[in-house]
Amino acid sequence: MTSLSDEDPDPTDALSAVPGAGTRRAPDRGLLRFCYGPMDCGKSTLALQIDHNHARQGRRGLLLVRHDRSGAPQITSRIGITRRAIEVGADTDVRQLVRQQWVAGRHVDYLVVDEAQFLSPVQVEQLAELADEVRIDVYCFGIATDFRSRLFPGARRLFELADELQPVQVDVLCWCGAPGRFNARVRDGEVLREGDTVVVADVVENAISSPAQTDFATLRYQVLCRRHFRLGDLGPGAGQRGQLRLT
Ligand SMILES: [Zn+2]
Repeated sequence: MTSLSDEDPDPTDALSAVPGAGTRRAPDRGLLRFCYGPMDCGKSTLALQIDHNHARQGRRGLLLVRHDRSGAPQITSRIGITRRAIEVGADTDVRQLVRQQWVAGRHVDYLVVDEAQFLSPVQVEQLAELADEVRIDVYCFGIATDFRSRLFPGARRLFELADELQPVQVDVLCWCGAPGRFNARVRDGEVLREGDTVVVADVVENAISSPAQTDFATLRYQVLCRRHFRLGDLGPGAGQRGQLRLT
């Protein structure tokens, strides 16, 4: 009668200590969870940790990534851990990836999806379907907002559909010491407010149509608190802290 009693509560799950508001896991459903945070907050490390914890319990998972920063289909954490992953393309039907596993005789208990902000809304809906209809647990990791502080479309759909939303507790701080919340795109000491949203970290998509107008060498990101993001204030140490060069 208790829906959770026979379920795998994943006691070693690093994130399970903080349940999502109002969520109760139905016995016959998978869970769709979105863990989000600013750049460099350790999301990929956490993604790999979740995978490790589940695999250790004998569960079979699939690692998926959309636009991994390494450019290869793998989940790369900035602390140096890497695992091979399946690249999700713009038109990939995520359900099909699972079916291919079934066809190969492999069962899938869970999915770990990194860089999930880049999923299309339709792909997020496919993940929800996998959770609901074939009871796969889906752990998505990603950035919520782009450099303009607007939700990525994939992140927006995850906020709408996920059973659990989990801000990743981070030690990424703004230069002032406040929690870093926004990834500011900076060029020549200025916080940019307009432009293509596809450039994140060191990933440069070919969707940037006019490279002549974009000098990537001078483009970087800096994590800022909301106040300093609003003000465009990069702080006294601008140029050194909390930034990632594109090259
Ligand atoms: Zn600040």
